[in-house]
Amino acid sequence: MVTGFMFRDVRSYNPNTRNQELETRNIPQVLWNAMSRRTEYCGPAVTIRKAQPRIQEFALIRALARRFARNTSQLVQGIGDDAAVIAAPAPGWWHVTTDLLAEGVHFDLRTASAESVGYRAAIANLSDIAAMGASPRYLLISLAAPRTFTPARIFELYEGLMQACRLHGVALIGGDTSSSRAGVFVSITLIGTTISGRALFRRGAHVGDSIYVTGTLGDSLAGLQLLTNAKSNRSTLRPFAPLRKPHRDFLVQRHLRPTARIGEGQWLNSARLATAAIDLSDGLSGDLRHICEESRVGAEIDLSAIPISPACSAYAESRHLRPVQLALTGGEDYELLFTAPPAKHSAIERQARAHGSQITRIGRIRARRFGMQMKTTDGTMRPIPMSSYEHFR
Ligand code: ADP
Ligand code: MG
Repeated sequence: MVTGFMFRDVRSYNPNTRNQELETRNIPQVLWNAMSRRTEYCGPAVTIRKAQPRIQEFALIRALARRFARNTSQLVQGIGDDAAVIAAPAPGWWHVTTDLLAEGVHFDLRTASAESVGYRAAIANLSDIAAMGASPRYLLISLAAPRTFTPARIFELYEGLMQACRLHGVALIGGDTSSSRAGVFVSITLIGTTISGRALFRRGAHVGDSIYVTGTLGDSLAGLQLLTNAKSNRSTLRPFAPLRKPHRDFLVQRHLRPTARIGEGQWLNSARLATAAIDLSDGLSGDLRHICEESRVGAEIDLSAIPISPACSAYAESRHLRPVQLALTGGEDYELLFTAPPAKHSAIERQARAHGSQITRIGRIRARRFGMQMKTTDGTMRPIPMSSYEHFR
């Protein structure tokens, strides 16, 4: 279905030239011409849908499909029909997740390349699939972009998206395309699979379970602050110390090129090691709260146990911050937070070693009435502050 608005070709339309244009190898240039010189905004799509051919939209889709779509053995119909068709897997579960990213809210094209926006959009979805313990399989991309966002940049965005997806064998099977009057919007839908009855939910944590995280926390926020040169309020009286280049590069990479913990989610799920899981997209405090709410439990975490990378420690020190602040509130690390009973500890550690995964035990699940508390470095217990990034607050 077409929603929103579209452009029409302002020159007279000749059906005979259409195929030539579509077949041309140099599609981005054709699209650029179509979108920049030869089009004008012409109101809601629905009023012109029959009368005006959506030539540039079709050419764009065809070019994207040619460059990025791949067949898989279970894909009956990919891009090019009214719907994609996938052969159902042997008794299994589909895991379906979608994310909408809006320019100016989730990304800033003045500071981030289209490629890194695409990459990070893919990781946000891959990470949701990882947190379910599923294998990512199929991807749909819906895109609304203003005329100023050239086809070349659309290709860049797809390049980033597909870079992240190809690592996991994900196939692009469809999407939707529209022009936009206010910024770029990218909506990604990702479909994953597990065998029936096997998934990691937020709702499965029990009192007495340990709380674990993968990787290190706070790196992405530190990287973002380095990129935007954000200044901490507390540090205005003291100048920032310089940060060594390898540390800086590490943190910026962790922000621009995060990793989705697909493998970790899979081994935690397939061997039934974890009772609950979530990916850290909003920050430890906010995401732990989701587990607690869904599982109707409380939690205690030990701040001194939170894994902090050497780069993040160095960054925090240089800016007179406490690294756990970054870890608790920083979003977009895309590490997994999971819970598991003590009986599974040794199996989890064995699996982590076998797969080369870093995991750290940072606390345990308590009764709901305990609430969410953290043991600070001086040994006192304090409520975990709820300061993760939330929209519409
Ligand atoms: P409809 O009018 O039914 O929405 P479209 O012309 O939008 O059909 O889409 C035709 C085909 O192209 C479909 O297979 C759709 O999934 C795919 N498609 C459309 N836009 C995109 C896009 N931005 N990226 C990938 N596939 C797309
Ligand atoms: Mg469409």
